[in-house]
Amino acid sequence: MLDTDIRYSKGIGEKRAALYAKLGIATVGGLLYHLPRGYIDLSAPYGVLDAPIDENCAVKARLMRKSPEQRIRDGLSVFKLRAEDPSGVLNITMFNSKYTVDHLDLDREYIFYGRVSGGFTGREMNSPAIYPINGTERIVPIYPTTAGLSSNMIRFHIKSALAALPELPDPIPADIREKYALMGRKESLRNVHFPEDLQQAVCARERFVFEELLTLCCGLSILRAGSKIRRAAVIAPVDMRPFYGCLPFAPTNAQLRAIADIIGDLGGGLPMNRLIQGDVGSGKTLVAAAAIYCCFKNGRQSALMAPTEILAEQHFATLSEFLEPLGVRVGLLTGSVKAAEKRRVKDAIASGEIDLAIGTHALLSQGVEFPRLALAVTDEQHRFGVNQRAKLSAQGLSPEIPDDSRDVHVMVMSATPIPRTLSLIVYGDLQLSVIDELPPGRKSIDTFAVGGDKRKRALAFVRKALDEGRQAYIICPLIEKGETDTGLRPAKEYAQLLSKTELKGYKISLLHGKMKAAEKEEVMRAFSQGQLQALVSTTVVEVGVDVPNATIILIENAERFGLSQLHQLRGRVGRGTEKSYCILISDSKGETAKGRLDMMKRTGDGFALAEYDLKARGPGDFFGQRQHGLPELKIASLSDNLDTMKKAKQCADEILIEDPQLCSPKYTMLGEMVRELMGRVGTSPN
Ligand code: ADP
Ligand code: MG
Repeated sequence: MLDTDIRYSKGIGEKRAALYAKLGIATVGGLLYHLPRGYIDLSAPYGVLDAPIDENCAVKARLMRKSPEQRIRDGLSVFKLRAEDPSGVLNITMFNSKYTVDHLDLDREYIFYGRVSGGFTGREMNSPAIYPINGTERIVPIYPTTAGLSSNMIRFHIKSALAALPELPDPIPADIREKYALMGRKESLRNVHFPEDLQQAVCARERFVFEELLTLCCGLSILRAGSKIRRAAVIAPVDMRPFYGCLPFAPTNAQLRAIADIIGDLGGGLPMNRLIQGDVGSGKTLVAAAAIYCCFKNGRQSALMAPTEILAEQHFATLSEFLEPLGVRVGLLTGSVKAAEKRRVKDAIASGEIDLAIGTHALLSQGVEFPRLALAVTDEQHRFGVNQRAKLSAQGLSPEIPDDSRDVHVMVMSATPIPRTLSLIVYGDLQLSVIDELPPGRKSIDTFAVGGDKRKRALAFVRKALDEGRQAYIICPLIEKGETDTGLRPAKEYAQLLSKTELKGYKISLLHGKMKAAEKEEVMRAFSQGQLQALVSTTVVEVGVDVPNATIILIENAERFGLSQLHQLRGRVGRGTEKSYCILISDSKGETAKGRLDMMKRTGDGFALAEYDLKARGPGDFFGQRQHGLPELKIASLSDNLDTMKKAKQCADEILIEDPQLCSPKYTMLGEMVRELMGRVGTSPN
């Protein structure tokens, strides 16, 4: 059946099973769900002259000549073929293909599938796949392959496996298939691998896209239901004047709107579940502070979690400054806080002496009890997995808490503008407040995208800023050289190099995720206090760090980052009153890379950048490195299949009303698939 080890499948065995493992395929089911990434349509081939150049396509021509085998060197032999049609000549080169070439007949028509280039004496094609004209197959699937496993071989194995398969139960019951016009499972498998025409292939594929998205939607809903909040403490509106009076500036209208949304939620008796979405620097921290103050005045505790220690420490500093004068007692709890201090903070949280606890994941860990927790704020939410968020909302479910106030109000702050459709799916019923206004006086950041040949000039520009008393970030895509040379600039080496050359004599330091928390903190503190002039860093500075005197950020191998990530990084500067600059260095000549960096130059609008990235790279990269906490999808793509996603979501809702846990016989199979998929959630912040 589907979970049979692939070794026992016809024609495979140990050796090939090892190759299949490279493709992530271990079972017959995995093999059958290895869907083609495209199809060759042999039914409508091009003529030699009208074949598009530099694109894979099928060309029909008559084979007129075969050269004898030419041995170029050991292990490499070449054949030259000449094929023709009335429009022109196609010169074909085949490598190490004695067997194939021997079996080709002269003066017979074939279809050659490959990339055509415009040669001097005619059109050319290298190593095409060759199909006889009168073959029975009209549509040939192309599979993702690995060395030693060709597309044709995979196709053959799938054919055998499919033939050996008995009746196949379908995780999507017949009534639902009918309603959503979906093909049955076995039929879909046959049609996706061996379609009679492209239309059939498309329909079959659609069924698997639907199946995967349905599984995802069910999984997310069940996960959400597990942490389902019923009631929460009523946090009455309070006089906010003392709070505003303590601020060093007047809140923007957008901030005031978000705060009003929150205060409305908190007082309603239902648990708040709100996403505060605001571009980098829009002042989300202040909004959180207002919510925390309101809870404090109601005699309740709050917790705030940040994705990194540096950020938690910074929030601790900022929020202490905002709130301590108002009587709020703030505590910090991160991995690097010393054991004794940790004990003290935990005890103080437990005894209710601390009104606001700030930390990283440590806040979620066992042994931290909040007797009066009412509000949980998560900063830069997308860096947390779905699981962690579920855990967080469950945090308030402590038995000592009176029944009417069991659950926490949840507030999530994110600078990543998530397209509405996607956020509905990922975050379900989250309410949304958008802070669409930056605090006054911000100057726009000038962005440049340059090649590596301009590096010296860029660094001279950095020196000039440092000489004027400003500070700079220099960002590298990785910490140190790995085993293979990726051609990327590692932060460690670059910091050393710069300190001996371009930035000799300047106070510079290294910062990266593998440093001990205390070291990082020390470096970050020195930088924010101006004792360091430049920071050579990985993306650990990406989120939230606030050093207004830093006016330049130079990003190496900029093509390696997602646009949202670049936007976040760029948001590290332009926080003070001085003019700020972002310099993107990239040697990539690719059109996509260029287009993306160009987009960075053109707009400072995080939302536009996110949409662009979503289209160009898909949601996997959308939040940086798969940090959205969603399981990895194998077939569907959230950006390409949004319409199907909507249908799948509706279908999931209907199914879950019928069977909330998917445990009835009708849905056990779907339930298993849901568990398998959700088990693939495995993301952690860098
Ligand atoms: P983010 O939304 O990126 O988390 P922060 O909360 O870190 O933004 O705020 C960015 C900077 O703007 C901080 O230095 C903060 O003190 C400042 N700021 C926030 N709100 C205002 C305001 N209404 N007027 C002026 N400055 C503000
Ligand atoms: Mg922030």
